[in-house]
Amino acid sequence: MNELVKVYEVGPRDGLQNESAILTVEQKGRLIDGLVEAGLGHIEATSFVHPKAVPQLADADEVMAGAIGRHAGYAAAGPEFVGLVFNERGYDRAWAAGCRSLAFGAAVSETFSLRNTHNTPQAALATARTLIERAQRDGARTRFYVMTAWICPFEGPISPHKTLALVREIADWGVDEIAVADTIGHADPLSVGHLIDLIARRIPLDRLAVHLHDTQALGLANAAMALQAGIRIFDTSVGGLGGCPFAPGAAGNLATEDLVFMAYKMGLGTGVDFRRLWGVVYELEALIGRPIGGRIRQWWESSQDHEPRIDFN
Ligand code: MG
Repeated sequence: MNELVKVYEVGPRDGLQNESAILTVEQKGRLIDGLVEAGLGHIEATSFVHPKAVPQLADADEVMAGAIGRHAGYAAAGPEFVGLVFNERGYDRAWAAGCRSLAFGAAVSETFSLRNTHNTPQAALATARTLIERAQRDGARTRFYVMTAWICPFEGPISPHKTLALVREIADWGVDEIAVADTIGHADPLSVGHLIDLIARRIPLDRLAVHLHDTQALGLANAAMALQAGIRIFDTSVGGLGGCPFAPGAAGNLATEDLVFMAYKMGLGTGVDFRRLWGVVYELEALIGRPIGGRIRQWWESSQDHEPRIDFN
C-alpha cells in the first residue's frame, strides 16, 4: 500500500506534557524507539521549554540527544525527531542536543496568547520569525503551529479569515510545514472542512497539517473532513495520550491508532505497523497508570480471535 497519509506523532511531547505521570529518560527512550519500530517516521520528541513551566519535559536535552544517538543517520532517511522551541534559549538547547527539525508556534487568539504565553500574538510572531530565520540559516527543517485556529477557550469561535491571514503570513516565510491546530479540541467537522477549503484556495496543501484533539469525540470526524478537503498530514498521539480523566479540560490528542485505522479503512497507507503500535500502547499504559488507547481499542481487541488477519502496512 502506498504511504499516502503522513502521521506526525506528538505523544512524547503534547501527550506527555499533559499527563500527571512523569516518565524517566529511559522510559521515554523506549517509547520513542517503540514508535520508530512501529513505523512512525516523524516524532515530536519533546519541547525545550523552561523545566519549571513543564516539569514532565524537563529532560528534553537528554531525551532528544538519546533518540538521535540511537537512530544515527536519521537526517538522511530515518525517522525525524522534532523539538518544539519558543525562544532563543530553547533553540540553543535543541541545537546542542543535535535536533535539526524545529517546531514553533503562535496563537490566532489574542486572549489565549496573553493568558498562556503572557505575550501578544504579534510579539510571539516576531520571536518565532527570528527563530525561523535562524533555523533556515542553520539548514534545519521548520514547522509552525497555528494555535486556536478554530476555537479559543476564552474568545470562542475564531474567524476563519483571521486564521487564514496568519497561515498565509507563515507560508510566506517559507516554513516547511504548517500545523493548523484545534488546540482544545472543540472544533466541529463542518468548520474544519470550511477552513481547510479556504486555505486551499490560497496555499498548496502539501505543506499543511491538522493538529486535532479528541476532547468532544469529534477527532476522527474532524480528521475525515480535513482528509476530504485535501489534508494528508495528521498530528496524532499514541494511545490518545494527554487526556487525563481527573483533570477537567485536559483532553487527549486524536489517537494514532484511530487515525491509522481510519486511513486503512479508506485504502490509504500510513506505513505504520498496527500490531506493533498496540505493543507501544500497552507498555505505555502500564507506565501512565490508567487506561489509554483510541476508540478502536474495544473492537480491535474483541476481533483478534475471530477476524481474518489484516495487513495494515
Ligand atoms: Mg495539542
